[in-house]
Amino acid sequence: MKAAVYKGQGRIALDERPQPEPRDDEVLVRVFAASICGTDTKVLRGGHFRVGVNDTRVLGHELAGEIIKIGQHVSHWRLGQRVSVVPNIGCGHCDMCRKGLNNMCPDYKAFGIDIDGGFQQHMIVTAGAISGGNLFEIPETMSYEEASLVEPLSCCFNAWKDLSVTPEDRVLILGTGPIAGMFLQLARAYGARQVIVVGRRAERLEEIAPLGATHTVDSSKVDVVDEVMRLTGGHGVDVALTCAPAAELQVQALSCLARLGRINFFSGLNKGTLVELDTNKVHYWGLKLLGSTGSSIEDYARALRLVETGQVRVTEVVTHRFGMCEAVAAFDHALSGRGMKTIICPQEERLQ
Ligand SMILES: [Zn+2]
Ligand SMILES: [Zn+2]
Repeated sequence: MKAAVYKGQGRIALDERPQPEPRDDEVLVRVFAASICGTDTKVLRGGHFRVGVNDTRVLGHELAGEIIKIGQHVSHWRLGQRVSVVPNIGCGHCDMCRKGLNNMCPDYKAFGIDIDGGFQQHMIVTAGAISGGNLFEIPETMSYEEASLVEPLSCCFNAWKDLSVTPEDRVLILGTGPIAGMFLQLARAYGARQVIVVGRRAERLEEIAPLGATHTVDSSKVDVVDEVMRLTGGHGVDVALTCAPAAELQVQALSCLARLGRINFFSGLNKGTLVELDTNKVHYWGLKLLGSTGSSIEDYARALRLVETGQVRVTEVVTHRFGMCEAVAAFDHALSGRGMKTIICPQEERLQ
């Protein structure tokens, strides 16, 4: 079988490997769709603390496929089942895992990080993932591509659920990547009265706006805070999400917030970055500054339903699809920053 293998900083190679054989407590999945995430490109750039610049790993944690082999000690699962996985596997016994927060486990293991992931034709689902509840059967009506995108949506949902968005709210989304696109879709699904997206490239704003924006702000042309205040009639926004790793977006988000406003700093910044924020505004205006990372199994289950019921049409963020033989080109494309979401279809040879 073919696998796109990370071989150290900046290097991805298409390798021929023997098909992996599941152990007695594992299953083997034929991968039909695996999407490239910012985490994958971060690893490739050599910037992920859990994957060394000299490690070898099949990346990819947003994937879906079909069970084609089952270890003899695995119960419940059967051949031919269509499945997807929650990538972060908790240790099962720490305080966070006991609360069901596998994404907050300090000792988690993840597909595409610690365990070979989705950018290969066949992938082992480990015993820990099966017993941890990380394997999901996907509904018959859901495509593999949709199912692969449930993972990034679940991370967005994890942030979204604590922002308590209602139809009364004005929402500000800073950034124009696929995560920003999914937040736009959530804002639309939750009926927010005004949804403003901020970006610095006109063509990206044009591409992303149909996902749910009522207004766009081009930060290369206007002052973001002034423009958001103008668009909201001087009120400011009730909810803001920063979806690009830039400190100034966090400052802008806070400046745009109305009384009792809520922020999620969704995109992490480079390690060690300190940001100066007006904490008096937080104090006197009763603001909530939140953060989130990854998603729990429960978040994943909720996101799966949002997709199944058509409330969020995740495939709208997909702009490019590549076959297995084009995996290296797919990464080059994702690294170039063009388009929104890139999908690799490991059972197709070529799609470009
Ligand atoms: Zn991801
Ligand atoms: Zn744990």
